[in-house]
Amino acid sequence: MTDVIVIGGGIIGCAAAYYLAGDGVAVTLVETGDLNTQASGTNSGSLHGQIPHDTYLQHGDAWARMFLPALRLLRSSIGLWEGLGDTLGVDLEVKVGGGLLLAANEQQMRDIARKVSLEREAGLDSEVLDAQGLRALAPYVSRRMVGAGYCPAEGKANPLIAAPAFARAAAAIGARIMPRTSVTDIRRTGGGYEVTTDRGTYTAARLVNTAGADAGRIAAMLGVDLPLQGFPIQVSVTEPVEPLIQHLLYYARAPLTMKQTAVGSIIVGGGWPARFDSQRRPIADPYSVGPNLGLALEILPQLAPVNIVRTWAATVNGTHDWMPVIGELPGLPGAFLGYVPWMGFTAGPAAGRLVASMVQGVAPPLDIDAAAFAPGVR
Ligand SMILES: Cc1cc2nc3c(=O)[nH]c(=O)nc-3n(C[C@H](O)[C@H](O)[C@H](O)COP(=O)(O)OP(=O)(O)OC[C@H]3O[C@@H](n4cnc5c(N)ncnc54)[C@H](O)[C@@H]3O)c2cc1C
Repeated sequence: MTDVIVIGGGIIGCAAAYYLAGDGVAVTLVETGDLNTQASGTNSGSLHGQIPHDTYLQHGDAWARMFLPALRLLRSSIGLWEGLGDTLGVDLEVKVGGGLLLAANEQQMRDIARKVSLEREAGLDSEVLDAQGLRALAPYVSRRMVGAGYCPAEGKANPLIAAPAFARAAAAIGARIMPRTSVTDIRRTGGGYEVTTDRGTYTAARLVNTAGADAGRIAAMLGVDLPLQGFPIQVSVTEPVEPLIQHLLYYARAPLTMKQTAVGSIIVGGGWPARFDSQRRPIADPYSVGPNLGLALEILPQLAPVNIVRTWAATVNGTHDWMPVIGELPGLPGAFLGYVPWMGFTAGPAAGRLVASMVQGVAPPLDIDAAAFAPGVR
């Protein structure tokens, strides 16, 4: 019998399985399809370490203060990302070269300054750059940009590599990894939980629900109603070009993220809406492509001749307040949730570490306020 069943083979589940196995816990991870085929393997690879600007403009200072524990989780995770390639023995293409939130006018600069001052109040190292400071740091950015918020802790990693690397490392130290195994029902028993899958029934003393956009469906099997949802969004990628973008770029005018991969492709995202087809499969929305790329050209007009080779859609796990939900489910001893909305790729290593520690009832080796994420606190 396994001690812990982890449900979901994205980055959080694979990281949790790795840390549990490393702590000597007998762990089995079950995944409906192949590992890393949902959000963790289809995202745009940004490592975010600042208060999300568009959400800040929408919800204001009180929301931003409430979000600070999540920001510490993201920062702590970026700290883990920096050493992860060595830990897992794989080049994860991690680069923490800083993020720039660009402004095209003085109103955008004022919005950035308010957010940066909140981040600095919380002890973070964000700063405001004027036009001269921006030119010195990022001469490749359009001269129409009048300044930026600079967040040194941000960067990128390769989402195609990370979760499988965690899973391989977990298997090498004893975790049982079961792809193509779908959880269809969960029943509480005297000593723990009985998990029914399409490949048989398994029992464990403890459970970890890391099913991403499907985490609400898994929680419902335990009789728990959680407002966790999936939203279709899309990303575009260009043909490879010579090295150009040194930073993770955002734009204060509207949602945009840009970065250049190790092979030279430029990834253009920012959470623009895609659609669900009649079977709830995410499909790209052509009406989002133009505005998304238009923003990219405002900050980097030299990209006009570069070809887009693909736009893809995928389902991101969200919540309305953007807060992670990580902890034991109320009334269900031994049943844990590991859920980070919108930015779960960044948070994946730390969220996996945190939930693995919680399952064992020990403090995580992370400088975070885990109580802020407990299911049911908000
Ligand atoms: C297009 C896009 C761009 C994004 N960009 C970024 C970014 O740049 N930076 C960032 O930090 N975040 C980004 N995100 C968000 C991030 O990818 C997710 O928050 C994160 O990957 C969630 O990880 P997870 O392990 O919780 O979930 P997932 O990766 O979704 O994994 C959950 C797994 O559970 C499995 N599962 C579901 N139901 C069952 C079942 N019944 N039985 C067994 N297994 C089951 C699923 O098949 C899936 O593999 C983006 C997301 C998308 C979609």
